[in-house]
Amino acid sequence: MRIHFEPQLRASRGKLLSGHGAGTAVHAGSFLRERRMVLDSDLLNHAPELLRILTHELFHFVWRKLDNGTRLRWDALVRAELGSPGELGWSAEWRKAALTPADSRKRTRRWREYLCESFCDSAAWYFSGAAKHPEYTLPAKLRRLRRQWFTRLLAERKLPL
Ligand SMILES: [Zn+2]
Repeated sequence: MRIHFEPQLRASRGKLLSGHGAGTAVHAGSFLRERRMVLDSDLLNHAPELLRILTHELFHFVWRKLDNGTRLRWDALVRAELGSPGELGWSAEWRKAALTPADSRKRTRRWREYLCESFCDSAAWYFSGAAKHPEYTLPAKLRRLRRQWFTRLLAERKLPL
């Protein structure tokens, strides 16, 4: 897998761009099939944040290869939390806020994207070891359940990359 650092990363119309221009500022983007990851070079000056973002991106690769049973167990976990606010990263949080009841019921694309982002954000939170971050807004009792879930996943040694 290759990791590149580029200045002023932004996303625009499904593309990842670098430098001034249109689009939304982002920390990183991953190209799963090409096994390539691009991170904003600003992160090089913020080690804890770099590790958080790097872990999040790495788990995109894990999620892609995860077996269906494990994915369904993740689906069941976050489905049971619906109705509670908060998440463990902005990427999952804004997607969660945009979900409608039909999304989870019909497992729409929006729901599947939320599943993936909540998985990656939770992994980044789990491995960061930090209790506090402005993006950690999930209530404590739900964090405990996610921690147990990841501890179990690791106990099974199931981390395909
Ligand atoms: Zn992501």
